[in-house]
Amino acid sequence: MNGSSAQKRQVYMDHAATTPTHPDVLAAMLPYFTQEFGNPSSLYSIGRRVRKAVEGAREQVAAALGAAPAEIFFCAGGTEADNWALKGAVSAHRSRGSHIITTAIEHHAVLHTCEYLETQGVRVTYLPVDRYGLVDPHAVEDAICDDTIMISVMMANNEAGTIEPVGAIGTIAREHGILFHTDAVQAIGHLPIDVEAMHIDLLSLSAHKFHGPKGIGALYVRDGVAIERFVHGGAQEKRRRAGTEYTPGIIGLGAAIERACTDIEGHAARLRRLRDRLIDGVLREVPHSALNGHPELRLPGNASMSFAGIDGEALLLMLDAQGIYGSTGSACSSASGEPSHVLTAMGVPPRLAGTSLRLTLGEVNTDEDVDYVLAVLPGIVERLRAMSPLSA
Ligand SMILES: *Cc1c(COP(=O)(O)O)cnc(C)c1O
Repeated sequence: MNGSSAQKRQVYMDHAATTPTHPDVLAAMLPYFTQEFGNPSSLYSIGRRVRKAVEGAREQVAAALGAAPAEIFFCAGGTEADNWALKGAVSAHRSRGSHIITTAIEHHAVLHTCEYLETQGVRVTYLPVDRYGLVDPHAVEDAICDDTIMISVMMANNEAGTIEPVGAIGTIAREHGILFHTDAVQAIGHLPIDVEAMHIDLLSLSAHKFHGPKGIGALYVRDGVAIERFVHGGAQEKRRRAGTEYTPGIIGLGAAIERACTDIEGHAARLRRLRDRLIDGVLREVPHSALNGHPELRLPGNASMSFAGIDGEALLLMLDAQGIYGSTGSACSSASGEPSHVLTAMGVPPRLAGTSLRLTLGEVNTDEDVDYVLAVLPGIVERLRAMSPLSA
């Protein structure tokens, strides 16, 4: 399959960074750019038709979470949902206190928002994780103070792939009467989610991580939970998030989440098998390689590994030259050149963290893709080590 002629194999294994919009999702969206262009706030028929479609998408999102449609608020994506959840809850609950509990391995959309809130007088506890990236629910409970208003722990980590015990943490939050927010951006379509069973009050999601379009997401807000509006203006989204709705995006989000959450278990089982073949093959073929994250409690498509003695970015570029698209750490931090905050929080020494490669599989990946990576990667690591003064 790795033909040497013009047709080079392309293997996209960076689904945690983004996914292609599925053709069926795009087809559902397209009419809303042209024929069905009405403003859903308009009272005439072409506006009302679009309103109906938007409310249908809200039902699709709600169904995927075990929520009610009235608890779903559309917004511009995962980053906005995280910002809104944290800033909005802090503003609305300031009279009750000003302490937030989160973890050291959150996405920057949560971490940098918490750092901003610290400049506004909010106290933030950043809980450590174990070497697998797991947050200890007992540590969450121990961190609770009289003035704690919110706990924010992600459902699954975007870099190491570790799945966090959000059900147990939600139970603790509920027992103490504290709001529980979870960034579920990486979990949708990969893990079953039930906001009731998991005692989740606020949940962030983003369509482009599950074959929907970029620039659209949603925040789930449990009925009765007060949250300050994030965007001021018109009366859209029940006065909670102003601005004319991105209607094609909303329709795409609805179509994508319904697709992604049909047969989660079958989809996850297929990915897990490919992922384990990939991980086992790499660990077998490449000396001094190690898996990052938890061996079992990990996202079905996530293979994050380190290769002592090499430079992760050099590895990425050499894989790119062979048509393999992966990532070092997370796509968001790779531009900064800093070692991943997730891997360092897991106790990986900074130098080893800089040797990491994250391959995240998706529904388009096949056994042939895994074979191709296994044929190409070991030789590249060997060459990089031969070139490197750091090599062990
Ligand atoms: C991608 C991602 C985000 C940001 O979502 P955008 O829609 O790209 O803004 C937030 N949290 C996690 C865990 C993510 O993986």
